[in-house]
Amino acid sequence: MADRYQKFTASAPGGFLAKRLGLPRPEPLRRHKPGDQVAAGPVALGGPDGGRLGKPVRELLESLGAEIAGEGGRPHALVFDATGITSSDKLVELHSFFHARIRSLAPCGRLVVLGTPPELITDVREAVAQRALEGFVRSAGKELRRGATAHLLLVEPGAEGSLESVLRFALSARSAYVSGQVLRIGAGGTVTAPADWERPLDGKTALVTGASRGIGAVVAETLARDGAQVVCLDIPAQAAELKAVADRIGGTALELDITEAAADSRLAGHLSAHHGGVDIVVHNAGITRDKTLGRMDAARWESVINVNLAAVERINARLLDGDAPVLRDGGRIICTSSISGIAGNVGQTNYAASKAGLIGLVQAQAPLVGRGITVNAIAPGFIETQMTAAVPLFIREAGRRMNSVNQGGQPVDVAEAVAFFASPGSGAVNGQVLRVCGQALLGA
Ligand code: NAD
Repeated sequence: MADRYQKFTASAPGGFLAKRLGLPRPEPLRRHKPGDQVAAGPVALGGPDGGRLGKPVRELLESLGAEIAGEGGRPHALVFDATGITSSDKLVELHSFFHARIRSLAPCGRLVVLGTPPELITDVREAVAQRALEGFVRSAGKELRRGATAHLLLVEPGAEGSLESVLRFALSARSAYVSGQVLRIGAGGTVTAPADWERPLDGKTALVTGASRGIGAVVAETLARDGAQVVCLDIPAQAAELKAVADRIGGTALELDITEAAADSRLAGHLSAHHGGVDIVVHNAGITRDKTLGRMDAARWESVINVNLAAVERINARLLDGDAPVLRDGGRIICTSSISGIAGNVGQTNYAASKAGLIGLVQAQAPLVGRGITVNAIAPGFIETQMTAAVPLFIREAGRRMNSVNQGGQPVDVAEAVAFFASPGSGAVNGQVLRVCGQALLGA
């Protein structure tokens, strides 16, 4: 979908005019291309003595072939181990490291802070200092310019060896439209480093619902790129588009309305009969039926709750059921929530309830599933698709611009986040909701 304003400001006269008028000039974001280095340039490392993560992170970056930056120059990433910050007086270390370097960060660069989840810390002063990191990172994300983004990675003690997948995501162009977010890396997960990080899903079967167009089509494409055999599902009315996507990526098409009676059993039967089970389930199908509450009829309410939430609950329950569940050990369930489900939105009581319900599902189900399975959600912000092209012009333009990178995201930004959760290397990431929203002003 076209963002004409971004195209205009990327031209010489448009850029000149925007600068003179003090208008935003959205930076064209760098996206991942196969074969790209994890970090597009030198990485500057910092952090006070006594931190847990400085050494493993340095070793990891060196093993990935990243250049560790010296003083000066134009680093691509600033990575700071804040786990040694045990009291608020030591927070000044954040200031000294980043103050000296933030203005030299390269376009589309990365600011990454590593900390300890405050809720696991018993010492009050340390918990205070670690909680402070969130405010720092969220504010730094809002200050960064030219497509650079910020991440806070909270690493449980014991998870120091489980960082590769998350650092590969955070430092690379795969996280182009993720900023100001907090990701928790747990100690209890089953992490399997892929033999080939370019094809981490080799040998896996993935199901993507709503795969005939928009975000779902690109998720299917991205999982296939990463090696998965993809079952593309959509309603029968979308059969032609669905087949085109499946053919393009060497996958298969399954025409099924996920709300029809016994859809969960039909789906489970199909996956068992044709693939012997499934490894990755991406719940992407979703609809909007917007109206303010007083004008919303029961049909609008029910259809949205049914497609976006109840069908997902039924399918999960069926795929996890029995002695030989259809979702295999080490499986991945990835739900598609929305920033509306976090912040709420006018005209979307039905939609936001369904998307907030998915967050509840992820948080409740993640600790219970076991067998090395993870359950996570993506919460997209404004993504350029047919769904958002239908939004009235002024609301659409506000949605596009009101975020730290002044532009809408692309379906591939959501797809890369899904692929990150789907990777066998991401077993330490469970029960998380990752916003892919360019740090939209809406919500937390
Ligand atoms: P889209 O409307 O382009 O695609 C949704 C797909 O789901 C369609 O192909 C549709 O046929 C399919 N679908 C709908 N009902 C179905 C059913 N009962 N059974 C099977 N398939 C069904 O939407 P999109 O913009 O690509 O959004 C994909 C997901 O991302 C949705 O869950 C949406 O709520 C979520 N999301 C999108 C945005 C955005 O900005 N586009 C923002 C936040 C969340």
